[in-house]
Amino acid sequence: MSNKHKHIIVGGGFAGLRAARLLANRNDVDVLVINPQLNFEYHGSLYRSANGYSPLETVIPYREIFKGTDVLYQQDFMVDVDPVKKHIKLLSGQELGYDSLTLALGYEPEYFGIPGMREFSKTLYSLADALELRKSLVQLAKQSFLKSAPARVIVAGGGPTGVEVAASITRFFEMITGDSRVEVSLIEAQNRILGGLSEDFAYQVERSLANQIEIQCGKKVIRATKELLHIADGPAQAFDILIWTAGSSANSYFRQRSDIFEVDHKGRVLVNKYLQTNHDGLYVVGDSAAVMYSGTAHAAIEMGAYIASHLIAKLQSQNCAGFLPSQPEYAVPTGHETAVAMQGTKLVGGQEGWQLRREFDLRALSLIASKEVAHAHWLRGEDFATIFSAANL
Ligand SMILES: Cc1cc2nc3c(=O)[nH]c(=O)nc-3n(C[C@H](O)[C@H](O)[C@H](O)COP(=O)(O)OP(=O)(O)OC[C@H]3O[C@@H](n4cnc5c(N)ncnc54)[C@H](O)[C@@H]3O)c2cc1C
Repeated sequence: MSNKHKHIIVGGGFAGLRAARLLANRNDVDVLVINPQLNFEYHGSLYRSANGYSPLETVIPYREIFKGTDVLYQQDFMVDVDPVKKHIKLLSGQELGYDSLTLALGYEPEYFGIPGMREFSKTLYSLADALELRKSLVQLAKQSFLKSAPARVIVAGGGPTGVEVAASITRFFEMITGDSRVEVSLIEAQNRILGGLSEDFAYQVERSLANQIEIQCGKKVIRATKELLHIADGPAQAFDILIWTAGSSANSYFRQRSDIFEVDHKGRVLVNKYLQTNHDGLYVVGDSAAVMYSGTAHAAIEMGAYIASHLIAKLQSQNCAGFLPSQPEYAVPTGHETAVAMQGTKLVGGQEGWQLRREFDLRALSLIASKEVAHAHWLRGEDFATIFSAANL
C-alpha cells in the first residue's frame, strides 16, 4: 500500500479537474477523482449544443483528460462525508478514507418555489438538458413551418446563459426550415439584463440583440402553466417553449448537512482564506464556495489551482499565502459568431468579440486537459454538420 498522501476530489468540473491536473504525477500525493458521469461537460457551450452544434464540443471524456497522468478516476456519487473519521460514503456502498478532501460539487438549478416552473420549463444545466431542448426546438420549428402564426419561445432570466441561448434560437430555426418563424422574448425581473455585469457591457449587449429578440425587463415571473407564463402586474404570456435560466444555487448537499458545513444565504459554504472548512483537511471550491467571483469557470479554475499549490506547500511543510481571486474575463455571445467581450477595460463587440470568446473557451479547456485534447474538442465548435442532421431528429 502506498504511503503517499491520499487526496480525494469529489466533482469533476473545472475546479476539481484543475486541482487534479496540478497534483498529478507527483511522488508525494495520490489523487482520486470521483464523479457520477464519465465525461466533463463544458457549460459554456451548452447553448450551442441546444442549437444544433456538435455535443462533442461540450463533453470531454475523463479518460482523455487523465491520459498520461497517474490520477485515478472512479465513476460514483458521494452521498456523505464524515470529517471526523475522514472518510466519504459513496452511492455504490463503498467507504473511502482520505488524508485531505476537496469537494467541488458545483451548483444546481433553482426555481425559487415558483409554481409550475420546474414542470413546464426547459433548462440548460447539462448536456442532457441541452439535447432535450434541441429536440423540442426542432419539433417546434417543423410544426411552425406549417402554421401561419410564428412559434413563440420565452427565455426567463436575463443573465449570460439567458442571453446566449435566446440569441441563438432564430438562426437555428432558419437552419431547420429555411425561415425564421419564431418570436423570442427574454424576460428579466430586474430593470436591466446582465445585472452582474457593468451597465456599459449590458447596454452593448442590448444593442446587439435589438431586432433579434424582444427584451422585457422589470417582469417578475410568478407562475408557469403548460402554455402560459404569469407575470406579476401584467398579462400572462403564451409560449410554445419556456426556458428557465434565472436561478442557480450551490449544491444542496451542503444545506442538508448544515451540521458539518456553515453556509451563506445562497447555500454556499463558508471557507477560510485557504478555502478550508472548519474541518481539518476538508476544502470546498468552485461554485459551492462562498468566495468572490464564484459562479464562473474562471473562479473555479483559480480555486482548483490554489488547492493544488496549498496542498503541495503543506506536504513540503512550507507556508502558503491565502487564496486571492482575480477578476474574470467576460464574453457574452449575442448571435451567430458575434459576442460582446471585455478585453482589459475595453469593450469589444461583433466578430472580434466572438474571437475573444473562442479564445477564452480554449484557454479554459486547456487548463483542465492537455493542449491537444482541449484543442480537438474546442475545434468541434466550428462544426456545422450537426445543424443539418439535427433537422432530422
Ligand atoms: C449554461 C451555463 C453556461 C455557463 N457559461 C459560462 C461561461 O461562459 N463562462 C464562465 O466563466 N462560466 C460559465 N458558467 C458557469 C460555470 O460553468 C461554472 O461556474 C463552473 O462550471 C463551476 O465549476 P465547478 O467545478 O464548481 O462545478 P461544476 O462544473 O458544476 O462541476 C461539478 C461536478 O460535481 C459533480 N457532482 C455533484 N455532486 C456530486 C456528488 N455528490 N458526488 C460526486 N460528484 C458530484 C457534478 O456531476 C459535476 O460534474 C455557465 C454555467 C451554465 C449552467
